[in-house]
Amino acid sequence: MKLTEEVYLVGSGFAGVGLSHDLDCHVYLLDGGGKLALVDAGVGLDAEGILRNIEAEGFRPEDVRYILITHAHGDHVGGAAALREATGAEVLMSEVEAPFIRDGDEDAIALTMARAAGYYPPDYHIRVCPVDGELSHGDEFRVGSLKIRAIHLPGHSKGSMLYVVDGERRYLFSGDAVFFGGVISLLNCVGSSLEDYRENIWRLKGLKVDALLPGHLSFCLRGGQKHLDAAVEAFKGLGVPTNLISRHGLIMSQ
Ligand SMILES: [Zn+2]
Repeated sequence: MKLTEEVYLVGSGFAGVGLSHDLDCHVYLLDGGGKLALVDAGVGLDAEGILRNIEAEGFRPEDVRYILITHAHGDHVGGAAALREATGAEVLMSEVEAPFIRDGDEDAIALTMARAAGYYPPDYHIRVCPVDGELSHGDEFRVGSLKIRAIHLPGHSKGSMLYVVDGERRYLFSGDAVFFGGVISLLNCVGSSLEDYRENIWRLKGLKVDALLPGHLSFCLRGGQKHLDAAVEAFKGLGVPTNLISRHGLIMSQ
């Protein structure tokens, strides 16, 4: 699904628009003028479906140079190994969570808890995946004509990494850290922390984002910063923020 001249949606489950496996997060394809990147990799139960969607948009999977992972939850990173093999792309993700994926540490990425809670099939496991590059806050790189900057915003998970992409407009790929409407996703599982959110939410200020492209649910192509400002604003009081993802959404996204 073409969103702009530079961004396509090539994977999306039932907490999205139903392009690929039900448990997939939104998987975005970036086109920097023939040089491609994916943002997130889906759950890994139908990576072939994502590859077919890439081809259906007129692109070659072997032109994907990077797979940018927002965080190490199964519905975002489970497909990384299969997509890396199929495309030859480098997997880039936060240095905080890279060891969990290299080692397949399902406790550290809360998969053990999420599976027990019924978010994944009982026999679901992520495939161990090499990580080709570990990212820190502020790291910058390019995908063809697109300039990309990594923003570390722990809260949803310890290594949640957001990507600001400058092209014809400014995009923010926010994973599960912040959603449309300024909603955040605080989970009752290892790695998720209100304190981390409180200490880092200010990193969303002043990004001047046009398009907000989260890991699930709605997205927008204009006016994205106002959603980020709403998330920052919600942390100004002493009470626990109420802009949490709804139970409905939480069931469908880890
Ligand atoms: Zn998540």
